[in-house]
Amino acid sequence: MTITSFIPTQRTLMGPGPSDVSARVLSALARPTIGHLDPLFIDMMDEVKSMLQYAFQTENAHTIALSAPGSAGMEACFVNLVEPGDKVIVCINGVFGMRMLENIKRIGATPVIIESPWGRAVEVQKVEDALKSNPDAKFLAFVHAETSTGARSDAKTLGALAKEHDCLTIVDAVTSLGGSELRVDEWQIDAIYSGSQKCLSCVPGISPVSFSERAAEVITSRGAPIQSWFLDQSLVMGYWSGQGKRAYHHTAPVNSLYALHESLVMLQEEGLEQCWQRHQNMHNELANGLQALGLDFIVPEQERLAQLNAVYIPEGIDDGKIRSFLLNEYNLEIGAGLGDFAGKAWRIGLMGHAARKENVALCLAALQDALNQ
Ligand SMILES: *Cc1c(COP(=O)(O)O)cnc(C)c1O
Repeated sequence: MTITSFIPTQRTLMGPGPSDVSARVLSALARPTIGHLDPLFIDMMDEVKSMLQYAFQTENAHTIALSAPGSAGMEACFVNLVEPGDKVIVCINGVFGMRMLENIKRIGATPVIIESPWGRAVEVQKVEDALKSNPDAKFLAFVHAETSTGARSDAKTLGALAKEHDCLTIVDAVTSLGGSELRVDEWQIDAIYSGSQKCLSCVPGISPVSFSERAAEVITSRGAPIQSWFLDQSLVMGYWSGQGKRAYHHTAPVNSLYALHESLVMLQEEGLEQCWQRHQNMHNELANGLQALGLDFIVPEQERLAQLNAVYIPEGIDDGKIRSFLLNEYNLEIGAGLGDFAGKAWRIGLMGHAARKENVALCLAALQDALNQ
């Protein structure tokens, strides 16, 4: 048999990511590939940096797009900042907090684990107690938008608490960037990472990251070299900065960065706050419809993410059957439950370009049809 071109079916992506990519971003991918050290490309990289500063609401000079998915952004934050033996307070209220813990353990650092119930925000009081009883802790790590449960934590308050106790913050904003209010400088966040394929609605495989001045100092003044050569930010910075002169580190995903550039231009055109508001508006519509279908949310209203709606699967309903029906009959993808919620919940994403009225209507009609069958 001869293998021929792969032509995927057009789907509507309303899961936990990747989200729908607009035709405009897809067409940016098809522009001619140029050299990654071409002056034209370097100028474009600088524009990506400045638009990411806008998206993160930061003036951090070290704000770049890592050539790898969100998980690499997570690993980059941990391996660059945390050294063996360092004490790290890590908040766990879902799958991605557990991955943070895994990074801390592999570095040989000492985690102090703060557990909050899955489906709830990180409990601020517990974090404050941990900061008080661990004055030698160097870092506070938490997930802003926990995609496994749909809970949003209070990054502003946690950031302020960390500063009071002289801790640097490491924050997962993979699902929050572009979808929820996020102000890196005002909230005193030191290291933050995101992903291209969630609320930025770009193709997967790129991780925007930003490091504060203080974090950058820790990176340049650490004792042992960073164990990951590829993620070593002191080297990657030579590739992403410098007046027209860039040191080759690796080859950036040239066309994927065109796509990220385009999605960030779209974010600027819409306006960051307007974009947050659109996610909230679409969430309100979807939530009303889901509740009318008798589906209950996992997360209490004031801690809910607009862009990730986790609802319990009703008693007696077959999870797999419903999701296959949506995919086969409506070309609609929604997310399965993850971790503690596997088989017990659906996760409906309203991320970036997917957060539109027509998607909300499609999802509600398709779910109704599926539940009736
Ligand atoms: C998706 C996600 C990640 C991982 O990103 P990848 O691009 O899949 O590696 C990390 N954290 C959170 C909160 C996520 O939603």
